[in-house]
Amino acid sequence: MGHLEKTRRRNPAFQKGRQVEETALDDLAPLFRPADFARDRLIENLHAIQDRFGYLPVDHMAALARLMKMSQAEVYEVASFYHHFNIVNDGDTTPLLTVRVCESLTCHMNGGEALLKDLQGELGDSVRLMPGPCMGACDKAPAVAVGETQVVQADVPKVWRQIKAGGVLSASPKMDFDFSQWREILSGSIERETLIATVEGSGLRGLGGAGFPTARKWSFFKGAAKPRYLVVNADEGEPGTFKDRWCIENHPARVLTGALVAAWAIEASAIYIYLRDEYPEARKILQAAIAALEAEGLTAGMEIHLRRGAGAYICGEESALLESLEGKRGLPRHKPPYPAQAGLFGQPTLINNVETLYWLPEILEKGAEWFAGQGVNGAKGLRLYSVSGRVKEPGVKCAPAGLTVRQLIDEHCSGMADGHAFTAYLPGGASGGILPASKGDIPLDFGKLEVEGCFIGSAAVVILSQADDVRDIARNLLGFFADESCGQCTPCRSGTVKALKLMEADSWDEPLLRELSQAMRDASICGLGQAAPNPLLSVLNQFKEAER
Ligand code: SF4
Repeated sequence: MGHLEKTRRRNPAFQKGRQVEETALDDLAPLFRPADFARDRLIENLHAIQDRFGYLPVDHMAALARLMKMSQAEVYEVASFYHHFNIVNDGDTTPLLTVRVCESLTCHMNGGEALLKDLQGELGDSVRLMPGPCMGACDKAPAVAVGETQVVQADVPKVWRQIKAGGVLSASPKMDFDFSQWREILSGSIERETLIATVEGSGLRGLGGAGFPTARKWSFFKGAAKPRYLVVNADEGEPGTFKDRWCIENHPARVLTGALVAAWAIEASAIYIYLRDEYPEARKILQAAIAALEAEGLTAGMEIHLRRGAGAYICGEESALLESLEGKRGLPRHKPPYPAQAGLFGQPTLINNVETLYWLPEILEKGAEWFAGQGVNGAKGLRLYSVSGRVKEPGVKCAPAGLTVRQLIDEHCSGMADGHAFTAYLPGGASGGILPASKGDIPLDFGKLEVEGCFIGSAAVVILSQADDVRDIARNLLGFFADESCGQCTPCRSGTVKALKLMEADSWDEPLLRELSQAMRDASICGLGQAAPNPLLSVLNQFKEAER
């Protein structure tokens, strides 16, 4: 035992652990009202501190723990789970501006890593420069986040200009919000049962990725305990997906109307919108839209809470999202119980994706038959496809569900980009697998691609060409999953890292990779670990040796 320790033990006045500084408490006083200290607001409060100081000073985290009547360890464990929190210890310094260079798939294909290297040489230590996961700007890759702004089709001069401008968003957007349809519903234009029957007849399914029939999901709430909640999952983080961002930024009133309709359908008393932190512009738009809704007295007694993610892909998984909304680390829950039984705060909770809600107003306006009749090849409805990669005109494409990738390229993206020939594609983002162009005539719909070991998911379609090496693509995707694994279960936490290491070899150990993939699929708690091997299995199963 050292001398110092002996002295401390003998000294009854010695206080163990980090002591809360009065100056830190004084700093926090203007940031919060007493109601902010509810347990579930921890992540919001950490954001408030980071927004104020540019980082999270440990003294202020200790002060927050005191104010929220939580242990310091608990505050630290939550803050350190999320990529967007920058914890700074005593005496350390950190640049105030964070610059993240996207290294996820489409940015990787468009020189994201080279840009990061160039920026490292140019910027030195003047900013906090780091690689980052998908920012939902795949159609304008490469993307760089400078503070709360985004630089698209980025290069060094463009990033420099944004750094000099401070990386701060301009004033709130000036938008008109049309809630006339919701006003009509509130005035009694439709019965609740008719509404549910219309949604059922339309064939609308959950468009976040799972494809579960929307009306059937709503039906679980018949007779469920109250209060009930609606959670809007606006945490699209799947590399290649950016449609929910498009919905919110371009049609906020329509998305909110859809949310109010869904909440009314299940008799929810509150709506929680969980929006990813990568979309600060969308946040400002939603804040303005919610304020307009409240000012017009159209909330129908429902509370609307807009909550901010903090940079964790796993929080797109519904039960991890619920944990995050409760102010905890985003660790997926074991199921059952399902959210409809015991969701947010243990109450029955409906979780709907942004795009699912986006379609509701139009379905109510034009009818179930109109929507159901829009699909092709046996599919029902329209979809917003996020298309990126080697096409002439990438972007969000509104097109019939069930069309093929060739139709999507030719009829909605003006063909392949100059100098590129179609060789392969990802039908459903990072986790939906990879298929060769020879399988480009399969309908892009739920249940159609599974026979090939793939799925449509959130319809994040990434088009590859002769410029892309599918093994390199698969490595990038495994790297993403390894970074984003929440670490809760070993098959995923260790399996993603191990698989990535094996895939870095010139010659892949195929039997070992297959065995590892099986273990991950069988024993991972949630979809991240179960789907993480999909890219590598696609390379092994879908591409001949010469094509890999
Ligand atoms: Fe976490 Fe991965 Fe396990 Fe899901 S599968 S709970 S992300 S470690």
